[in-house]
Amino acid sequence: MSSSASAASTSGDLVVIGSGIAGLSAAVSAAEQLAGEPDRSVIVVDRADSAQAGGNSRWTSAYLRLEDIYEVADSFVDDVVAFSGGRTPSSYVEALVDHLPDTMEWIQSHGARFRRFPTYFINSNRPRLQPVGGGEGLLNTLRPVAERLGVRFRYRRTAQRLVHDDSGQLTGVVVAGDGDGDEETIPAAAVVIASGGFEGDPDTLAAELGGNADQLIPIAPGVTFNKGEGIRMAVEAGARRAGQWDGFHAEPVDPRSSDPEALVMVFPYGVLVNRDGVRFLDEGRGTVDETYESTARAVWSQPGGAAYFITDQQFEAVTDRQRGILTSVKPVMAGTVAELATSLGLPEQRLASTIAEYNDAVLDGPFEWRKPDGKRTHGIEPPKSNWALRVEKPPLLAYPVACAIVFTFGGLDTDPGARVLGEDGRPVPRLYAAGECTGIYHGKYPGGTSVLRGMIFGRIAGRGAAREVISATPERSAEVTGS
Ligand SMILES: Cc1cc2nc3c(=O)[nH]c(=O)nc-3n(C[C@H](O)[C@H](O)[C@H](O)COP(=O)(O)OP(=O)(O)OC[C@H]3O[C@@H](n4cnc5c(N)ncnc54)[C@H](O)[C@@H]3O)c2cc1C
Repeated sequence: MSSSASAASTSGDLVVIGSGIAGLSAAVSAAEQLAGEPDRSVIVVDRADSAQAGGNSRWTSAYLRLEDIYEVADSFVDDVVAFSGGRTPSSYVEALVDHLPDTMEWIQSHGARFRRFPTYFINSNRPRLQPVGGGEGLLNTLRPVAERLGVRFRYRRTAQRLVHDDSGQLTGVVVAGDGDGDEETIPAAAVVIASGGFEGDPDTLAAELGGNADQLIPIAPGVTFNKGEGIRMAVEAGARRAGQWDGFHAEPVDPRSSDPEALVMVFPYGVLVNRDGVRFLDEGRGTVDETYESTARAVWSQPGGAAYFITDQQFEAVTDRQRGILTSVKPVMAGTVAELATSLGLPEQRLASTIAEYNDAVLDGPFEWRKPDGKRTHGIEPPKSNWALRVEKPPLLAYPVACAIVFTFGGLDTDPGARVLGEDGRPVPRLYAAGECTGIYHGKYPGGTSVLRGMIFGRIAGRGAAREVISATPERSAEVTGS
């Protein structure tokens, strides 16, 4: 420890804010590091009760962008940086890759297991690695380990702000109790922020995203717990913002469904029209995994944030279609375009001319649902570049589609050691952050990287913060400074 502020002795525990994958990875690794240190322990605060705690991590399938348990694709760093248009720091992604093998060893040593599992991206044909039990499986693995290691969990406690002494040294976290709202200060020698993004705070969404944020559907109940206090408290303490603050991870869902992640990932096999009965994008411009996020955002920008996926009996040729439809609500069925328009509440004439114009533009050719087949339209705007079949064979069927918000892209700037960086680019002493509350994404989300980075940088944060706590104890501080 070189900085005198960091080496100064202090009392208090290591406080982790949030118990999703990033928070639990931090808590367990910190507790392992602090084992045998007298009077130092790890406290996790979470605004949810113990059954709901875990934020988005509780609801995710947790697909991981890995070739194998210990391996990323050769192009992983370049790909992730390219998704952001070069704005995600490669040093962060390289650190993720460097720490992958030991993190996977570590989490498996605590009981996590992984398998290869097909995704809902039915025309990419690329199974992804997934923890058994998804994100909830990881939480159910790590939480008992944390408890066995003596980590204390304070549920229904919302972290509000950081506390500093007169010299600017971080000394604690103010938390408010659920229900009574009473505040208390938990003394802290170091803090790991792992409280997710601000996807659960309508006011901040409206302020940061622009557009009609109230038309976004939370992808799962976990979203609503993440209101951005962790990010705000760090910024108030001098932290630098990073990531795309008006960006978010979007998915197309069925707004009629109350299921979590009620995805409609089959939009290339028909047409998408808006409330006016008009097509607004090339539904077949790429595979589902390449286009689902931009499709969801395009739906959000339509009147009322609403669209309708319309197809016909030929959809049955897409034999894996059910893997791409996660809503349990049945499609709207109709014998004619006019009937369908009535059922969906769309302008009948306009829908009829949209479908007729589209059908006329479809070129003949072989249809192959498993891969981009080049079966396209000619002479209409927007075109359809693949999988263009005419919508003509009853029964017609339709799913309403809306844009769901999964998480926000804006967050805190951190270095590869998970230390929160200040406006001057230097680490803020004793403050760490990991997971969704750290901002790395811009533009397009590189799927399968969130849980991975939560786990890897959560563990790095826990270890780093624990080392700071150890060096901050009076006797150890003397050892470290040599005084
Ligand atoms: C339906 C769904 C599907 C997804 N699919 C994938 C996928 O396949 N692959 C992938 O990599 N990612 C996926 N994601 C994203 C991924 O799940 C998240 O990015 C990741 O789990 C976030 O982990 P985290 O620990 O940073 O935050 P979270 O898991 O959201 O945890 C944050 C925790 O902080 C608590 N909290 C918030 N504010 C406070 C406060 N002020 N005080 C105290 N506690 C607070 C919350 O209650 C929560 O427990 C998906 C997400 C969802 C919802």
